[in-house]
Amino acid sequence: MSRILIVEDESHIAQGLRFNLEAEGHTVEISGNGEDALKRLLRQGEKFDLVVLDVMLPGKDGFSVASELRQHHNFIPVLMLTARGRPEDVLKGFESGADDYLPKPFNLDILIARISGLLRRKSWLQTVQESRPPQADEFRFAAKVVDFQKLQLRNGENVFQLTLMESDLLRYLIRNSGRPVTRKEILEQVWGLKEDTDTRAIDNFIVRLRRYIESEPSRPQHLLTVRGLGYQFVAEPQKH
Ligand code: CA
Repeated sequence: MSRILIVEDESHIAQGLRFNLEAEGHTVEISGNGEDALKRLLRQGEKFDLVVLDVMLPGKDGFSVASELRQHHNFIPVLMLTARGRPEDVLKGFESGADDYLPKPFNLDILIARISGLLRRKSWLQTVQESRPPQADEFRFAAKVVDFQKLQLRNGENVFQLTLMESDLLRYLIRNSGRPVTRKEILEQVWGLKEDTDTRAIDNFIVRLRRYIESEPSRPQHLLTVRGLGYQFVAEPQKH
């Protein structure tokens, strides 16, 4: 079973979560603030399989905690708890490197399902990495390589570490290259979101992917905006 760190200052929420996650068979630790969580995850190198990270924390907020983790190349799955009705929280959450989010107050069954989903993908990734199958899960285009196993994108000398969300979005766009993909489709098919999420979250993801892929992000050659529709991936753009 998995070891989960809950970063939440509201003790009744943290304790309730712990109770329910322990009932699912997980081991659970609680951090009451961001500084403590970063100390445990980065400086003390404690091993966890997943972090449930509240945004509203005393001192460092959840966004800062997530981005510090990613800056230090810690890519532990992060499920962020955002405030309901604040799409900007969702945007900032994804930008700071969260893998998934849930608005508060959350439904416990949904939270546990999301956590199981992230953990399944993590263990799947580990199995793939440890067994080193001869068939690499890579996609090459225009002198770039996306390694979906290592969650890395290599572009010349630069190696970018992708979050699970970035990797999933890129994989979906690549699989559907040749046609435009709508924002709604991305929300449903890539992120499994049926709810009415602000689709600008996707635009921000595209901006980030363009920074990794495009030589001139403001004049994209691979991740094209299709006006009124969404986005389309082009592996080998036509030379003019
Ligand atoms: Ca809180």
